[in-house]
This record gives sequence, structure tokens and C-alpha cells, in this order.
Amino acid sequence: MTDEYAAGRAWVEIDRAALAHNVEVLRGLLPGRCALMPAVKANAYGHGAVPVALELNRLGVDAFCVAAAQEGAELREAGVRGLILVLGYTHPAQFPLLTRYELTQTVVDAPYAQALSASGQKTMVHLKLDTGMHRLGLPWDAVDEIESIFRLPNLQIAGAYTHLCADCSLSPQDREFTLTQGRRFWETVDELRRRGCSLPCAHLLSSYGLLNYPELGGGFARIGIALYGVLSTKADTASCAAPLRPVLSLKARVAHVQEVGPGQGVGYDLQFVPSRPSRVAVLAVGYADGLPRSLSCGVGAVLLHGRKAPIVGRICMDQTIVDVTDVPGVSPGDTAVLIGRSGELELTACDLAEQAGTITNEILSRLGARLERIVV
Ligand SMILES: *Cc1c(COP(=O)(O)O)cnc(C)c1O
Repeated sequence: MTDEYAAGRAWVEIDRAALAHNVEVLRGLLPGRCALMPAVKANAYGHGAVPVALELNRLGVDAFCVAAAQEGAELREAGVRGLILVLGYTHPAQFPLLTRYELTQTVVDAPYAQALSASGQKTMVHLKLDTGMHRLGLPWDAVDEIESIFRLPNLQIAGAYTHLCADCSLSPQDREFTLTQGRRFWETVDELRRRGCSLPCAHLLSSYGLLNYPELGGGFARIGIALYGVLSTKADTASCAAPLRPVLSLKARVAHVQEVGPGQGVGYDLQFVPSRPSRVAVLAVGYADGLPRSLSCGVGAVLLHGRKAPIVGRICMDQTIVDVTDVPGVSPGDTAVLIGRSGELELTACDLAEQAGTITNEILSRLGARLERIVV
């Protein structure tokens, strides 16, 4: 990326040191013989899949998971090395991507295994076992059916995994359920191995699983949100014992500053009508960049010159208006912080998620393609 494209309008900054720190911290939590398999799907939760995966490669990480075959192809085109597991469905029309880019495909059910094998190309796969989530996967107790997949001619079965769906909770009921999922998974894996099926690796932990149930083990931990230094909610992030550091900042330029008199309306539907002489700044970022429109009209805020400036009026597709009456010296070209630090203040993706009524994962993963990703 040349400088004239960097940090021009609105951009994401990736803190390389924070990413390396989180890798260290998470490695320290891994159970024995378990390796990190970062989840870099959805553009690495908005952080930029290519720069993040290349940086992780440099940190010695050599396994990744993505949601879609195209995401894996993009990583390979950029030179990312190691195992790339496609967690989601790949349509038969896209099977050639799997071999061309040496991707490992998830077997989502038994007919899918047959279709993959019938395509005639040798494909590396991991079997997904459904241990209670009822999303993708072969039912954990259909062991004969799972065993029959090992007889298909064109599948190279390198592993099996399951997904825990209540592991963020430590309530007795959810604990019981999660431990049941773990028990079902290992029972099936052990039984398949007893029957002579080769399963070099088996894995079931993601971020909350690693933090709350490391004893469930496995050869990989598929870590997404925690690697990026936050958890799904502000409360979870605050109470997390692991000293993770947020990796991402979201920043935008001030495009224009103007005075608005009492009684004058600002923005679509004139939703902001100041009662005092005011100054507003227009930021070059909008909901098309992933800033939730529900933060309009005073729900959200940004940081400017180390102070908080409330979002006023409706967030537009490409622009956002903030009240800077109490922030001296704001001029066009200044940098506003939407996620990250400014002076003593910090706004986190967790804050935005709470204000927007969602989880951090959604805020981050929806950060738009138009934002530049800059590694600092
Ligand atoms: C996204 C995903 C992960 C990563 O989850 P985090 O909670 O972000 O760590 C792991 N496994 C599967 C199957 C996923 O879809």
C-alpha cells in the first residue's frame, strides 16, 4: 500500500506488539500438545486476514481456520503457509479451490463426504462432529456412519472436531452441557481410533473453551476473538484473567468543522437540534464502514484530542457528525478515534457492542472493506 492510500479517510490500525503479546498469553494457556489455530475468518474479525495471518506466520503460527474456501484462497495467494481449515460449507462448484490452494475442508455431513469424494479429486478434510449444537456436523453417536466415511476413496481425513456452544457460561447447567459435549466428542474419537480409523488430530476448544475448559484438551485451539484481545462482551472482557490487549483501533479523519446555532437542525431528518451555540465536526466514516447506525443521536461517541465527542444526528453511510463544542481546537484533517485510545481515554469494541446491543465479534467482523488496514 502506498502512502497516499494510507490513513486517508478512515482506517484500522493493527497493533503488531499487542497481537504478539496475545499469542504469547494464549500459548501459555494451551493444554499439553495443543497448538494455536487462529480463526482468521471474516477478514480476521475485521482486522485484515492477510496482514494478520502473515504476522502470525512470522510468530511461528502454522495453522489457521477460515469460514469459506475463498478466504483460504486469498491467504494462499498472499503467501500464508501452514494448515488452512475451511470451517464452513464449500459448494461443489468451488471444490477445485480446495486442491489448488491446499485447503482442508470440513465434512459437514455424510452426503457431503460422498459428494467430496465423488468429485474425484483428493481432498484433505477434517470431520465435524455435532455433539449438541445442532449446527453443522455428523451426529456424534452415528459412529458406524462416520466410520464408513473412512472407506471413501478420495478423502484424506486428517482430523475431527466439534464446536462448543455454551462454553462462555459457567452456570451449573451450561457447565454440565459443555462437559457432556466434551465427553461425547472424545468418546467418538476414541471409538473411531479403536476401530482402526486414523485421526491424527482432534480439536474442540475456541476462545471461551480455552479460557473456561482447557481440561477438554485437543490438538488445536481454534482461537478467534481472544486473539484480537477482547471477549464477546464488556463484562467478560473485564473479568477475563488472561492479560489480553486489544489489537485493533478504528480511526477517521475530520473532514469539516462548522458552527451551528441554537434551533438549527443537523443531518438526515434534522435529528440534532442544539439548544446552545455549538460546533460540529463531520467525520469521514459511516455505517458502510461498519459503524453501527444504532449509535446515532447520542448513543455513541468518539474520541478527539483526548476528549469524548458524542455522535449527533443520524450516522450516514459514509459520514458521521459529532458534537465538538466542548473539544477545543478541532480542525479538518484531525484524527478521531472510534475504537482505541486518545490521551487518557479509551473506547473499546466492547463499548460499541454494548451501545449497539450486540457482541464484540459482530462489531469487529463487520468493519468494512473500504477501511485501510495498517499494521503499526
Ligand atoms: C469462529 C469459530 C471459532 C473461533 O471462535 P472464537 O469464539 O472467536 O474463538 C472456532 N470454531 C469454529 C467452528 C468457529 O466457527
